[in-house]
Amino acid sequence: MCFGVVEVTEQYTGYKIKRGDTIIGVEHLSLPPLTFRTKAFWLNPAPETEQHVLKENLDFAGGLHGAEHALIALMPLHVMCDRWDIGGLSSAAYGEKAEPVIFVYDGYEGGIGLAEKAYEILPDLFATAHALVRDCRCDDGCPSCIYSPKCGNDNQPLDKIATTLILRELCREPVISESAMDTVSSETASS
Ligand SMILES: [Zn+2]
Ligand SMILES: [Zn+2]
Repeated sequence: MCFGVVEVTEQYTGYKIKRGDTIIGVEHLSLPPLTFRTKAFWLNPAPETEQHVLKENLDFAGGLHGAEHALIALMPLHVMCDRWDIGGLSSAAYGEKAEPVIFVYDGYEGGIGLAEKAYEILPDLFATAHALVRDCRCDDGCPSCIYSPKCGNDNQPLDKIATTLILRELCREPVISESAMDTVSSETASS
C-alpha cells in the first residue's frame, strides 16, 4: 500500500447521447489530454491473490477493476466527498514491472486530502467494500456494487466473484506504507 503524488493524464475521447437508459448516439471528441498532479493511494495485491483468482478461472483484471470501483463507491462513507471527486485506475500489469495495481486519486490539481484520509483508514475501507460486493444480491455486478457511472472504460472488464476474492484478501493483508511518486494515465470517456 502506498500514498504519494501522482501525475494523471485524462483524455476525453467521446460522449454518449441517451434518452432514458437507451443510448441513441455516440459522438467522438478530439480534445488534448488533460494532465494534473494530485495525491493518490495505490496498492499492489499479493502474487498469491493473483494465483488464487486465476486458479478459480476468474478474470483478474475484471476483479481489480471491480475492486477499484467498489473502493471509490465507498469513499464517501469514510471521508467527506462525492464519488465524482475521486478517480481511479487499475491494471493487471502496470508499469515496467508489469505488476497488478489499483490507484485511487483525488480528481483535483494538488489533491484535496481525500485519498490521504482514506489511506489512514484503508482496513475499514477494504472491509466495507468487501461487504458491499459480497452481500449485493446481483449475479454479475450492478450499479449498487461494482458498476460505476463515471467509468472511462464502459465498465469493462468486470468480474464480481474475482472482485469479492481480491477485496477479501486485501482485508487480510497487513498495510505496509510507503511514499512514492508515480504516473497514472487514464482514458476517460464521459457519458
Ligand atoms: Zn450488485
Ligand atoms: Zn472503471
